[in-house]
Formats: sequence, C-alpha cells, structure tokens
Amino acid sequence: MNRSMSGVAQARSGRATLAILAALSFLTLAVPAAAQEDGAGGRNVILFIGDGMGFQQVTLARIVKEGEPAEPLFMETLPVLGYASTWAEDCLVTDSAAAATALATGHKVANGVVSQRKDGKPIRTILEAARDSGYATGLVTTTRITHATPACFAAHDGNRDAEKRIALDYLETRPDVLLGGGARHFDERTLEQFRELGYQVAPGASALRDAKPGKVLGLFAESHLAHDLDRDGTGQPSLEELTRRAIELLAGRGKGFFLMVEGGRIDHAGHAHDAASIAADTAAFDRAIRAAVGWSVEDGRTLVVVTADHTTGGQGITERVDVQGLRRVSSSAERIAERVEGGEELGAAVLAATGIELTDEEKAFVAAGKGPWSPALEIGHVVSSRLGVEFYSPAEQFRHRKTEGHDGTFVPVWAMGAESEEFRGPMDNTDIARKMAAYLGVELER
Ligand SMILES: [Zn+2]
Repeated sequence: MNRSMSGVAQARSGRATLAILAALSFLTLAVPAAAQEDGAGGRNVILFIGDGMGFQQVTLARIVKEGEPAEPLFMETLPVLGYASTWAEDCLVTDSAAAATALATGHKVANGVVSQRKDGKPIRTILEAARDSGYATGLVTTTRITHATPACFAAHDGNRDAEKRIALDYLETRPDVLLGGGARHFDERTLEQFRELGYQVAPGASALRDAKPGKVLGLFAESHLAHDLDRDGTGQPSLEELTRRAIELLAGRGKGFFLMVEGGRIDHAGHAHDAASIAADTAAFDRAIRAAVGWSVEDGRTLVVVTADHTTGGQGITERVDVQGLRRVSSSAERIAERVEGGEELGAAVLAATGIELTDEEKAFVAAGKGPWSPALEIGHVVSSRLGVEFYSPAEQFRHRKTEGHDGTFVPVWAMGAESEEFRGPMDNTDIARKMAAYLGVELER
C-alpha cells in the first residue's frame, strides 16, 4: 500500500472509529492508569475466533436477536471486512487444531495437530513470539482451556486430544492470563506448579473479580463452559465478563499485549444442529467483541481482528425461519439431551425447553441416533427443522469423518484499529498470523 492510499485508509477508519466511539460512549472499563499514560508506543492485538462461525451463523444470530434483521451485529459494524480460506494441509476441510495453528503460527498443518511440524519440532506461535519480545499474553475461551483453539497458541503436540499434556505445556509457555473451562485436566499437583510460577488460581467468578494484575489461571467448569442459553444458575462468568477481565489484567503491562478470545461453543451448537444455540452463542461472542472495542477505541493502539476457524454443521437460512420460535427456545439441545439421559421423558423435555411437541416419527428419529453427538444432534436437528433452520442430514454429516460436519467455505474477517486496513479483501488464514505479527513487530518462523 502506498502513502496516499494509506492516508485515505486512515481517514476512512478514523471516521468509522468516531462512529463506533459515539455508539459506545455508554461502555466503561477500568483500565490501569499506566496503560493510558504510557505513550511509548505499546501495541495490543486482540484476536477473536468464533469457532464454527461462518457468514451463515452470523446471519442467523442477526435474525434471531431482538430488533430488526436490518440491524447488524456489532462485529459487522467493524470498518474493515475481508475473508479467509481455511483448508488444512491434508484436507479441504479443516478442524479447529489445523485452523488455529494457521492463525497462531502462519503454517498449515494436518487436522488434529497443535502447532507442531511433521518431524515433531514445535512451530513458534505468535503468543510465544510476543511473550519473548516483552508483551503480556492471554487466552480466553468458553471451551476447556486445553481445547484445540487455545492450545495451538501456547502448546505443541501431534494430537489435540492430549489435553493433560497440553495443560503441562502451559507451564512452559506461561501465558499471563488463561481463562476458560477444563478444570478436569489440571490435578492438584499441576495447580501447585502454576501457583509456584506466581499464578493466582481462580476457582470461581468472584475470585476472578478479586485477582490482582499479574498471572491468572481461571478454570470455571470441569469441561466446557455452558452454552449461553444454559448459563443462568451455573455461576459461570459470561464471555464478555472474561474478556473485560482479561483486558484489565493485561493492559498496561509489558510493551502491550496479545490476547486471543474464543467463542468456542458456536461450533458445538453447529455440530448439534442447534439453531437457537448457534444464535445465542454468536450473540454472546458479539457482546465480548463490543466490550473489547469499547476499550480499544480509547486506547488507540489496539488492533482488533474477528474471524473464525471454519463453519460447522452445513446450516442454511430458509424462508421458513421461525424467528419468534427460535427466540422462545430456553435450553441448548445439549442440555435437553442431558435431561433425557437423566431420565426425563423426551417429549416432555423438548416441550418444556422449546414449546414444540414432537411427533412419534421425530421421537423415533431421536431414539435411533448413535453418533458421537447423539442424542443432542438428533434433538437439535428435529427442533431446528421445525423452526425452519435446515442442516446437512446427520448421514451426510458423518461422511466427513475427520471433522464431523465442518465446512470448507471461506470465513469472515473483520478488523478495526491500528493497521486494520491490512485485513481488507481476500486472504488465507495463515496470512492473518503474519499480519498480526507484523503489527506487533515480532517474527514468526518461515
Ligand atoms: Zn468442530
């Protein structure tokens, strides 16, 4: 980009920033004084990854949210729009590990691989490169903190399922802030090692609120955090709360920070063909983005990038979509499945959570489910179909054995803030890592 182009781009993004600033004047966030006074060129990158969030999931969330479908989600209002190809080294359709490795290192790997070369050597991640250059670093997710997406930023392994090893890898990488689920992969001995390294281990939302600036390991569930529809009564913090807290803990430390925030359960809702949860988890992810942007417009040195690793479930938008019906759904398909497995009658459980009375044929379809996502998948499938949201059939879905229903289409890339113009137009997911590294002035491996 030449100088005059970049001037135009700056003017354009300046106007957009003012518009967003006006829209966000109601948002406040406690930022350490050092972050505001330090004019010495600290740079921050906040990367948001909506796991399984393609354009179709964003479209659904926009339709289902309160208000008119003409009103975009917050993320859609970010001034720069691009799109990224996502394929893995060994497959046209990526899983979360290969995609997150691309976003974290700028390298293509095979599905299932966590930032590692074929010969077993680690590939340095942007988080590690930033840490080595004096930046503070953090990972936030609604999945287990050892799950594929966060793992690829701070661990190296040939197998994404080796989550206990991945937890131990974090003792080496030592990101300043680790917030998510996955307590089951941290035994007392491992937690003690984190404490010895100076981590405040926060077992609940109130301990997280009390944490002082510094290293924090926050694990708020044994496995994944709840789908947003199911969060009431769990005591778990929302993704927005986790994001705000991570920024408060990281801002003003080092020469800036790198933070990755994952909306990880959009993907699981896609695997379960659960349209209402796709919309709710995408909306919760959107609120986290709004909170981060509300902070970063004041900071002025932050690059915010919003993208996805892949899309999930083959979800469509038909003209039959029942918006009111989708808004009435009060539990995820996963939670309904848990109730049924706990002994509740299927028809009663679905009726209570969705207002839909299943036919005998639909009940038989649910009872016949035998896949890894059953019976949540079959419950999600029949409920979503009744509400006018169709997905690839389960039979079709499990033909893709490696990814169980991911999709190889391009994913959106939204950006705002410093050097965000670099993210306009087409790119590969590996380019996103390189563009972020260039802004931070850190080197990724060739
Ligand atoms: Zn997935």
